[in-house]
Amino acid sequence: METAMRLSRFFMPILKENPKEAEIVSHRLMLRAGMIRQQSQGIYSWLPLGKRVLDKVCAIVREEQDRAGANEILMPTLQSAELWQESGRYEAYGKEMLRIADRQDRPMLYGPTNEEMVTDIFRSSVKSYKDLPLNLYHIQWKFRDEIRPRFGTMRSREFLMKDAYSFDLTKEDAIHAYNRMFTAYLRTFDRLGLRAIPMRADTGPIGGNHSHEFIILADTGESEVFCHKDFTEFDIPAEDTDFDDVKGLEAIFDKWTSLYAATSEMHDEAAFDAIPEGDRLSARGIEVGHIFYFGTKYSEPMGAKVQGPDGKEHFVHSGSYGIGPSRLVPAIIEASHDDNGIIWPDSIAPFNVVVINMKSGDASCDGACEKLYGDLQKAGVDVLYDDTDDRAGTKFATADLIGVPTQVVVGPRSIANGEVEVKNRRTGERETMTVEAALNRLT
Ligand code: ATP
Ligand code: MG
Ligand code: MG
Ligand code: MG
Repeated sequence: METAMRLSRFFMPILKENPKEAEIVSHRLMLRAGMIRQQSQGIYSWLPLGKRVLDKVCAIVREEQDRAGANEILMPTLQSAELWQESGRYEAYGKEMLRIADRQDRPMLYGPTNEEMVTDIFRSSVKSYKDLPLNLYHIQWKFRDEIRPRFGTMRSREFLMKDAYSFDLTKEDAIHAYNRMFTAYLRTFDRLGLRAIPMRADTGPIGGNHSHEFIILADTGESEVFCHKDFTEFDIPAEDTDFDDVKGLEAIFDKWTSLYAATSEMHDEAAFDAIPEGDRLSARGIEVGHIFYFGTKYSEPMGAKVQGPDGKEHFVHSGSYGIGPSRLVPAIIEASHDDNGIIWPDSIAPFNVVVINMKSGDASCDGACEKLYGDLQKAGVDVLYDDTDDRAGTKFATADLIGVPTQVVVGPRSIANGEVEVKNRRTGERETMTVEAALNRLT
């Protein structure tokens, strides 16, 4: 992947004015920073700056899925209606599903989710309990014809989802699979710089305690949520967590579900009131992930069976596990911005360093900038070099708007002493140091 860029060659259509269609800050900032462009209602193109962030979010999601033992696949966006007729969801899904006919007039659909398709893959090749546990996931575009698409990619019609599907012989094993994803989700959101709280979610006709929505607290969130405030301080499971340790993962699940946390649909007033008043948190939230154990809901109607150690055939127990990367990007902005623009966490910043040349054309500024840019690039740092002819003020405003965590400012006066200014976007702290010291700091 090309990691370094010159701004003069980078397609980043910045908007000077606040777009009036944007109701919330993340939508406003994504449009202003030239991250996305609406193509039709609830359908967006991702432009280079946005695409870089989206890719980094997906990379973290992928790493944590893989760490938890899931296998990445890629299923198509278009599906045949037949599979959905088998599960009985073709009629039930309603108007959110985009239905399409091909030239032979065969009914197709743009997948809103993939339980049916992945169950079909499973049943066609897995026949024995010895091949379990299995968890297959993909990161693929989905389409849901939302009644009210809004807030940019926060609630769009076409959106990216990581959806994983687990297959196990018994309910007990499936609960362990659930705990794997539960733990992976805690780690994923933490690495994205977010505090996501798992909240009890409706399991519908299946019942049980095994569905959680992962919610980020934000004033602009569409969900109304209630929880114990200690959730904001719980420790995140470590990188070396053993995902095969049944008891260990159970302990993580128990800890993270030991206190009250529910969305309005599941809210239990009495249980919430039992929390000491000072520890109650009643807020708004954004659903960024959702995990669900659904047992044999699809394996039975679709005939997904394996032979057990007893020699008999058993319908497999499954769950599905979703995360919305294209919603996460605005969710992270909602959680991390100021009046001047976005403040990216380092882990997913489109660039980690921006070198700002205050006087392009000045030989000593150009020389120092080229050295910084070249050396940072060689060290593998994602660096953006603002080599444009814009005024210094415009460059500072752009750097702040696009939220690059570290700015290195090269101006004619300080470079005469061999010095540059290093600014931390989040704290606003500035430090003057030599070019060498800056390179040491940033590589
Ligand atoms: P919502 O309640 O916001 O409509 P959902 O419960 O319908 O979401 P799920 O079916 O649980 O969504 O999908 C898993 C994840 O996909 C969600 O947690 C969210 O991160 C993401 N997602 C769902 N719908 C959208 C959408 N319209 N735009 C962007 N991301 C979405
Ligand atoms: Mg929905
Ligand atoms: Mg929901
Ligand atoms: Mg959901």
